[in-house]
Amino acid sequence: MPELPEVEALAEFLRERAVGRAVLGVDVVAFQALKTVDPPVSALGGVTVTGVTRHGKFLDIDCDGVHFITHLARGGWLRWRDDLTGAKPVRPGKGPLAVRVRLSPGDDGQAPGFELTEAGTQKRLAVYVVRDPAEVPGIAGLGPDPLSEEFTPEVLKGIVDGNRTQIKGLLRDQKVIAGIGNAYSDEVLHVAKMSPFKIAATLTDEQVAGLHEAIVTTLRDAVGRARGLAAKDLKAEKKSGLRVHGRTGEKCDVCGDTIREVSFADSSLQYCPTCQTGGKPLADRRLSKLLK
Ligand SMILES: [Zn+2]
Repeated sequence: MPELPEVEALAEFLRERAVGRAVLGVDVVAFQALKTVDPPVSALGGVTVTGVTRHGKFLDIDCDGVHFITHLARGGWLRWRDDLTGAKPVRPGKGPLAVRVRLSPGDDGQAPGFELTEAGTQKRLAVYVVRDPAEVPGIAGLGPDPLSEEFTPEVLKGIVDGNRTQIKGLLRDQKVIAGIGNAYSDEVLHVAKMSPFKIAATLTDEQVAGLHEAIVTTLRDAVGRARGLAAKDLKAEKKSGLRVHGRTGEKCDVCGDTIREVSFADSSLQYCPTCQTGGKPLADRRLSKLLK
């Protein structure tokens, strides 16, 4: 799933290529992806793209006051097409293509565009056409953006104080902090040398400061690596830059211990015991359930 750094890079990528071009048409292939009815998708036709921004993990393409907003969800991605001239019309079907946005041609005569695709059978990719981004419920409820100036150690302190949830879940909660998902929460906790199961309210001031630093540096570094990459290269870059997430069984680069995982019904987390849990492996609930 694309998280803050990838969506930030996608926003920059699109900004450079789409701003100033008019929308020729929006072809919705996966009808369930479109979550709004007013204004209609046709309202975007002929309108010029004036800006591209990010809200948490949402990508917002501003078409002169009408916003085309997407959340790529777990299996979604954005594919840039240099030239859609002569591209076959899209028909609803079983393929991964969900939405195609066609843009006006430049001086070179090429009419580019982009496509939102979604792999897998669980279709969660969402598209909203709204006049105000705050009309999207997921955006209206977002917590502070961790790369904004308002996200200070004091703000994080206020978030964890009295909060009895595990820190891993708290970091992933978009209403608490915007943009961090399963992968970067693993990364942040590895950098902060903190157990994913630690109860937020038990963090000392020093640990809050360390966690804040870990959040900001991890995301900034990831944005730095992703910046300037083509949309198609972002996935591979994300994977190669991760220290623990998705690396079960590999050696920790910091201490050499073996990276372990805890599995849940529909996800898993990875961590390094030596760096994060005093060398003790965390109980894998799925496994202990099987053993009972
Ligand atoms: Zn380690």
